[in-house]
Formats: sequence, structure tokens, C-alpha cells
Amino acid sequence: MASFKFLLDHDVRHLAQSFPSKQVLMLEDVGLSQRSSDGEIVEAASERGCIIVTNNARNFEKEVPEHIASTSKKAKGCTQVHGLVIVVPSEKFVQEKALADATSTLRFEGRSIGWKEVSDLCLKVVISKEARAVVTRLPRCPYCKFEDEKG
Ligand SMILES: [Zn+2]
Repeated sequence: MASFKFLLDHDVRHLAQSFPSKQVLMLEDVGLSQRSSDGEIVEAASERGCIIVTNNARNFEKEVPEHIASTSKKAKGCTQVHGLVIVVPSEKFVQEKALADATSTLRFEGRSIGWKEVSDLCLKVVISKEARAVVTRLPRCPYCKFEDEKG
């Protein structure tokens, strides 16, 4: 059973139907509002282990690594962000098509993956209209053990 959820930024809340319905959280579901800052969204997603979905590449590509870098060894000091999905197109129907295409063709390090791997491995997925989604690693909390580091 999937335990991770997607937290949709206010600029992509119209894309809820592009994700499994039981796994979608809106800002108001995590105690935030339309006016919450990007920093608050990153913090809420980190605490809940959510994948962030946003159209705002500029801010989140900066805020997410910064937030992860503030991690500490203390109890509850972990600030890992469990996945970031950046939907680049700005028009709804283009976004939906690009997301649907990406969902069925995600690849990382030579193999097909799904959203679970994006969550488990804390990946960044950049989805554009023209090309295959670009999947890279987010920075990692040095105190956590990740799925691909076991054994
Ligand atoms: Zn950690």
C-alpha cells in the first residue's frame, strides 16, 4: 500500500486528478493556505514525507535543497524532502498531458520507476512538454538510510 502522498502547491491544485486520488493533499489539508510561503510548503511536505508538486521551478529548486541542508542529528531534526515534481508547462491541458506521459515513462538510472521510487529515493522530476521527464536525486540527509543504500 502506498504510504506517501503528493502535496500540491497552489499553482497546480487543478492537477489533482492527475494523481491517485487517495494520495493527494491540498495545502489546506496540511494546515496551510493559498497564501502560505514556499518555505512553509517545503517544511510541511518534509514533516509529512510528501512529494511536492509545483509549477514554480525557480523557488522550489532553491528552497528544497536549502531546507534539506538544514537537517540535524537531533530528534525530529531531519529535514529531508521526499520528492519534488516540477511541472514546467503553464497551461492546464498541456500539464495534464505531460504528466500522464511522464507517469508512464519515468526512468532513473536505466530502469523504469514509479512515484513510489520518487518518494523512496527522494528524487526530483522535471516534467516538460517536449522531452522525457528528467529525473535526478535531491540532496540527501546524511543521517537517513535510503532504499538504494541498504545491504
Ligand atoms: Zn534524515
